Amino acid sequence: MALVTGSPSLLNKQTLMKYLSLPQPDNVVQCMYIWIDGTGESIRAKTRTVNFVPKHPDELPIWNYDGSSTYQAEGSNSDIYLHPVALYKDPFRGGNNKLVLCETYKYNHKPTESNKRRSCVEAMEKAADEYPWFGIEQEYTLLDQDKHPFGWPKNGFPGPQGPYYCGVGSNKVYGRDVVEAHYRACMYAGINIGGSNAEVMPAQWEYQVGPCEGVTIGDDLWMSRFILHRVAEDFGVVVSFDPKPIPGDWNGAGAHTNFSTKAMRNEDGLAAIEQAIEKLAKKHEFHIRAYDPNEGKDNARRLTGLHETSSIHDFSAGVANRGASIRIPRQVAEERKGYLEDRRPSSNCDPYSVAEVIVRTVCLDE
Ligand code: ADP
Ligand code: MN
Ligand code: MN
Ligand code: MN
Ligand code: MN
Repeated sequence: MALVTGSPSLLNKQTLMKYLSLPQPDNVVQCMYIWIDGTGESIRAKTRTVNFVPKHPDELPIWNYDGSSTYQAEGSNSDIYLHPVALYKDPFRGGNNKLVLCETYKYNHKPTESNKRRSCVEAMEKAADEYPWFGIEQEYTLLDQDKHPFGWPKNGFPGPQGPYYCGVGSNKVYGRDVVEAHYRACMYAGINIGGSNAEVMPAQWEYQVGPCEGVTIGDDLWMSRFILHRVAEDFGVVVSFDPKPIPGDWNGAGAHTNFSTKAMRNEDGLAAIEQAIEKLAKKHEFHIRAYDPNEGKDNARRLTGLHETSSIHDFSAGVANRGASIRIPRQVAEERKGYLEDRRPSSNCDPYSVAEVIVRTVCLDE
């Protein structure tokens, strides 16, 4: 395929380096404010300079943006406030520069509809004495600029699934450079990234974030998604978090959410895990509505009962069962303590919503 002349992400990186390597004064710091837009799924960002090195998000000014351009406000009353809530080192600009995760608030200082963090924090504060931990397995698909899966033949399909999962070799995995760059960038930023692997569908990948306590799982996962989009931009490829990017006999993408409380991690914690599963069983539909940004509609394409999923209509649980809603890992069953895996959340879920409903159901009995 011929390169599209002027394709914006393919500008010359060597030329860019000439400018990025110019010395930058220590106390003149670029802060990229990052937030979730009105889709509940896409991320926006803009930068400002501050004249100190921030150590804590509270030190940074509240800012604002044009919510009428992010599906969050009318043009006549468009300012949305940005409240810094988490700081990360900026792996793109380096030095003292920061990535700043923000919550969004409306003109009346109420959270925007897509600000799911505020109520998540409230739930986590109420459940703090149970020390809730989360680990999320984020699956995603790399696409070409034309939305075709990256590395797939342009007029057809690769061979059927089988050789690709955890594969190696240029005929098995597509886009590893993006994966490796993203992993290091997350570590540099200060994200608790735990691992990565190639997935069952070619051009599909996974990384894990966690275990993180409380709301940090949402902060780290959202920032890891921003970094992934940004790294892919440098390589001229596109990241999709769609839960079923290719219809048919191809695996979808999820965000398996591994969860434990202190009681589950202690000796004979299996009893607490089983009690949690009983509570989850009673609230299946409530959870499904919280497990993608479109109240279950996105996940309906993925949770078919095929391709290592459970049907969206049924709740099930089992040891080592990858066709169940909830899986107890084999090792957890053997050690009689550890965590459970909720396999239902969609790859495009809001981790604040997922973590919140799990804690409200399991810890707060709501
Ligand atoms: P899978 O076998 O389902 O592919 P992974 O190894 O991809 O599992 O992911 C396991 C996840 O479980 C990781 O994100 C890890 O941080 C998380 N995890 C491990 N122990 C706990 C725990 N006690 N509580 C919550 N999450 C945990
Ligand atoms: Mn302007
Ligand atoms: Mn996994
Ligand atoms: Mn996976
Ligand atoms: Mn899993």
